[in-house]
Amino acid sequence: MAGSKMTFYAVKLILRLRRNPISVMIDYTSSYRMEFHSSEEDQYNMIKVKEIYDILLAHYGKPPWWSKNPFEVMVGAVLVQNTAWSNVQKVVADFGDNLTPDFVANVTPGELEDLIRPCGFYLGKAACLKRVTKWYQGYGGCQQRVMAGTLEQIREELLAIKGIGKETADVICLYAFYFPTFVIDAYTKRLAERLELPVTLQYEAMKQFFETSLETDTDLFGSYHWLILTNAIRHCKKKPQCGGCPLAAECHYQQN
Ligand code: SF4
Repeated sequence: MAGSKMTFYAVKLILRLRRNPISVMIDYTSSYRMEFHSSEEDQYNMIKVKEIYDILLAHYGKPPWWSKNPFEVMVGAVLVQNTAWSNVQKVVADFGDNLTPDFVANVTPGELEDLIRPCGFYLGKAACLKRVTKWYQGYGGCQQRVMAGTLEQIREELLAIKGIGKETADVICLYAFYFPTFVIDAYTKRLAERLELPVTLQYEAMKQFFETSLETDTDLFGSYHWLILTNAIRHCKKKPQCGGCPLAAECHYQQN
């Protein structure tokens, strides 16, 4: 296994060196400096995972950050569970100027349920929004005060809120409070499976796999997640549309 990986690595390195020797030297010098003590397998994963990112980035370009409004991110992260992103965008637009912690804390449960109804599961989601808003108000509704905490602490507090699972907690930590945590969702799992990345599909294992394969960087983690999502929407659907997929050369699945 290690031998075939090293062969793969050697071939990739030669191909990249031929294409762009200077950038490859800079890339690989910094990679080796950063991961000097890591195992051969870690180095292989690091190169592979970064290469996937580079391909997606070159194809789709740098994605915009979701929103500068942390509360909008929190609301969106709760609403998007089991529904299409377009429904979330519609509901967020319907909130208008009322997308604030004060409004969500004080509006009646019935009114809140009516507002978010297009996103489905509106009873549970409305109750969850009330709870997560109360948590945020414990920090005075202040992004900076949350960011003064540690990732571990904030993630744990979010996970203790009923209705907030690991994916939602990581979305909030990453996109609302800029903590470097990698978000795993159904699209990430699908891509990892189809590209045969050497990782199990359990949430924490996959999160650790990406985080240890990449430089710890909030912007990189956020961009990577959006790029996977973008590729999943355009190509790597449940029934994949592989024609034109930028990852086709890396992917054995399309040949099956
Ligand atoms: S080639 Fe097909 S299966 Fe592979 S990543 Fe692209 S869309 Fe998904």
